[in-house]
Parts: sequence; structure tokens; C-alpha cells
Amino acid sequence: MIDVLVIGGGNAALCAALMAREAGASVMLLESAPREWRGGNSQHTRNLRCMHDAPQDVLIDAYPEEEYWQDLLKVTGGLTDERLARLAIRASSNCRDWMRSHGVHFQPPLSGALHVARTNAFFMGGGKALVNAYYRSAEQLGVQIRYNAPVDAIELDGGRFVAARIGSERIEARACVLAAGGFESNREWLREAWGQNERGEWPADNFLIRGTRFNMGVLLKYMIEAGADAIGDPSQSHCVAIDARAPLYDGGICTRIDCVSLGVVLNANAARFYDEGEDFWPKRYAIWGRLVAQQPQQIGYSIIDAKAVGRFMPPVFPGVKADTLPELARKLGLDEATFMRTINDYNAACRVGKFDHTVLDDCHTEGVTPAKTHWARPLDTAPFYGYALRPGITFTYLGLKVNEASAVHFGGQPSDNLFVAGEMMAGNVLGKGYTAGVGMAIGTAFGRIAGTQAAKAALAPAKGQRARASQEIEHATS
Ligand SMILES: Cc1cc2nc3c(=O)[nH]c(=O)nc-3n(C[C@H](O)[C@H](O)[C@H](O)COP(=O)(O)OP(=O)(O)OC[C@H]3O[C@@H](n4cnc5c(N)ncnc54)[C@H](O)[C@@H]3O)c2cc1C
Repeated sequence: MIDVLVIGGGNAALCAALMAREAGASVMLLESAPREWRGGNSQHTRNLRCMHDAPQDVLIDAYPEEEYWQDLLKVTGGLTDERLARLAIRASSNCRDWMRSHGVHFQPPLSGALHVARTNAFFMGGGKALVNAYYRSAEQLGVQIRYNAPVDAIELDGGRFVAARIGSERIEARACVLAAGGFESNREWLREAWGQNERGEWPADNFLIRGTRFNMGVLLKYMIEAGADAIGDPSQSHCVAIDARAPLYDGGICTRIDCVSLGVVLNANAARFYDEGEDFWPKRYAIWGRLVAQQPQQIGYSIIDAKAVGRFMPPVFPGVKADTLPELARKLGLDEATFMRTINDYNAACRVGKFDHTVLDDCHTEGVTPAKTHWARPLDTAPFYGYALRPGITFTYLGLKVNEASAVHFGGQPSDNLFVAGEMMAGNVLGKGYTAGVGMAIGTAFGRIAGTQAAKAALAPAKGQRARASQEIEHATS
């Protein structure tokens, strides 16, 4: 029988498999995707948020535990478990040497992402290279890897793991780590979680999924129905505004539209609906998916003029371009008269001071609702560009409740051989909100813990055996 079975094939699963193998356990990893699509959402990532008290290789200055914690506390609005959050934060300070030992390389951020040079270590070659390095290392260490292996059921004995099932096949193991992602790829479940709005629409029908198509939440649902303790709200997720032309799955990072703060955003009625200049874009990009999701038809249009070009990371597809604003309205399929009224009202309301996109500048609007509080400049310089936006789901936050050992809980009791890591439990730390790089920090910390704990559970003689052994010893020595 295998010692440790790891279910999933992304960062959390690989960290768990590697740690369990290093601890001397025999390990099998089951990835539902075929080899060429392996790596889940982790293959799309770029960086890891790291605590550090002094400059460290690719990280500048310091990012102490307290500041990291306060950042997390702020974005989650307190919906976080401090013990588990601090555990992940501390683990982020000393995991990189271990990651390097498995072939992961780091680099400083490129110029378009300088604001995170202090807090985030970037993977050289991105998440794809990280995942490939981990698979290579796992293979070399003798981890058995199976692709096209979607687990659909878990056999339990009380709170103990017994076996995983793939259709009629049954795989037993002494311990198990669940790391099979959230349910973001399951459009039906998203539909159910988001429900119907006051306009009779099902908003989730217009969502795009930024990452893998394989995170269907099958095991999350199975475990919750089997009595595992859950945490988090199914409608909470990381959701950003992305290019409406992005594919349904796996569009990845290059479909993000980053020019919102440099122009205005309109809905399908050609009306503005939120302060585009509320705060720096890195602090606000993650709210725009939800904002667009609340609009009619779940669509938005980011409108800029020539002055914005070169000031943001361009998306992969060029925007719709026009020499005049009425022409842009027509090309975007928006009502021309309303569009012009909205833009003219905005232009007239701009009070331009000293434009500076690197600070919260004094360019703002007066007498228009909603206000634009920074970087407000009239849209008056041709050519004009428009990008249609859709809500892009990154990952969902509903998960299984854990303790510091990453154990799955049943009725408040930790299982002694079933563990969970990554998106499947990220909701313990992320009740809502997000700060860049924390997904991989959680997955790496709890993936490593889960792997270590699973190996320990598998390699320690079972409790019953231990009790029998001690009775025998007592008997033999009495
Ligand atoms: C476009 C994009 C960019 C991102 N960028 C960053 C970033 O730069 N930094 C950051 O910290 N976070 C980022 N994230 C979030 C990050 O991807 C996740 O937090 C992290 O990868 C989660 O790791 P995981 O191992 O839990 O899940 P995943 O990497 O998604 O892995 C889940 C795995 O489980 C497998 N699986 C699912 N169901 C089953 C089943 N029933 N049986 C067997 N296998 C199954 C899947 O195929 C997949 O391999 C990004 C996400 C996206 C989509």
C-alpha cells in the first residue's frame, strides 16, 4: 500500500508530495489533467508574497511579519484566522531555499510591476517553470505521478482516510493530502453560488475563468457532503476585470486590463458606475471583477485616450481604436448619444492639477457622480481606445476547515490521516479580498505542512498497532 496519496497536481499538491517523499514516505500523486495541462492555476502564477526582515536576494528593503499581517487583515476585513495566517506568513520567509533545492529560480519583478519589488519574489519563467521544476524533482525522487486521474470519491472510516476512487478503481493509502483546488471551473456551481440578480440575470453565466478548467470542486463538494467542516462563503472569490475576448478557461495573466485608473469605465448603458481613481491599481484591480459582475449583462468598457498609452502594461489583444469618441461608441456597440453625454459630463467635471500616476495625485472631478478622485483628465486626445471587460474568476474561497497541522476536521475533530492544502483550504486565511502573491504563500506553507504531517501519519505505526505492540511488550516483560 502507498504511504501518502496526494490528490491534485498544482503547487500545493507538489509541495506536499515532495515533503512527504523527503520524509521517507512512498508517494503517489493523482492529477486530473493530462500531462500537457498539468499544474492547475499554479501554472499561471508569477510570484510569491514573502515576509523578510532585511533585503534578501531578489527582495528589496524589509517586509516584516506585522506589516504582512496588517495587509492581510485589511484586505480580508478581519475574515481570517490569525494563527493560520501568521503561520503562512512566517513560512513565506524561509521556504525559498527549499524551493530552490527543487529547481525553482527567482527574479526581481519587471519594470511594469515595480511596486511589488519589496514584497513579492517572482518565479523565473513564471508558474509554468515552477510547476515543471517540481514535477521534475518529484519524478527524480520517485514520486509516482498519474495524469488523467480525476478522483471522484473518497472512502472514509469515521474521520480517517481509507481510499480514493477514480470511477471503479480504488486506491488505498495510509494517509492522504487533498489539494484539488477550488470550484472556480464549475460554471454550474458558480451559477448556484451567485444566484439570480434583480434583473433576472444569472451573472455567473457571463464569467470567464482565468485559470485551469480542471478545478471543478468535485472533492470539495464530496467532502462537505461527507461531513467535513467547511469554511467560507461560496460567492467569495478572487475576481478581476479581464478582456471580454479572453477564452473561457486558461486566459491567464495576459488578459487582465490594467488601464482602468487612466480613463473611465462605462457599463452597457454607457454610464459610469464607480470611482476609477479610488486608489493605486494594484490595490484596486481585484474589486473590478465584482463591480462588472454587478452591472447589466455583466459587461464593462474601459475607455482611454492617447495620453494613457505607454502608462500601463498592455493586454495581449489591442483595444478597439477610433479617431473620434462617437466612432468609438459605435464600434463598441454603445448608444452614441448616451456615451457622448457621459464622456462630456466627465470631461467637464475634470479638475486637472499635476498629473502623476505614481502618487495619489490631485487630478479629480467635481460635480459628477460617481466622482473620479485621482488621475482624472479629460478624454480629448485621439486616437481613443475601448476594451470590453468581463468578470474573470481567479479562484473561489469556500474550503475545508483546518488547524495548524492542515488536518481536515469532522465535527470539530481533526482527522489523523487526512490533510488538505492550497485553494481547498485557503478560505481559512482568505475570507474575502486578496493581496498579490498570498495564494502561493498559503499553498506552499500548508502544502509543505500537509505533506510532512501525512508522512508522519503514514509512517508512525497505527494507534491500534501501537497499543497492541505496547501490550505485547508489557506481556513479554512481565
Ligand atoms: C491567472 C492566474 C494568476 C495567478 N497569479 C498568482 C500569483 O502570481 N501569485 C499567487 O500567489 N497566486 C496567483 N494565483 C492564484 C494561485 O494560482 C492559487 O492560489 C494557487 O495556485 C493554488 O494552488 P493549488 O495547488 O491549491 O491549486 P491548483 O494549482 O489550481 O491545483 C489544483 C490541482 O488539482 C487538480 N484537480 C482538481 N480536481 C481534481 C480531482 N478531482 N482529482 C485529481 N486532481 C484534481 C487540478 O487539475 C490541479 O492540478 C493566480 C491564479 C490565476 C488563475
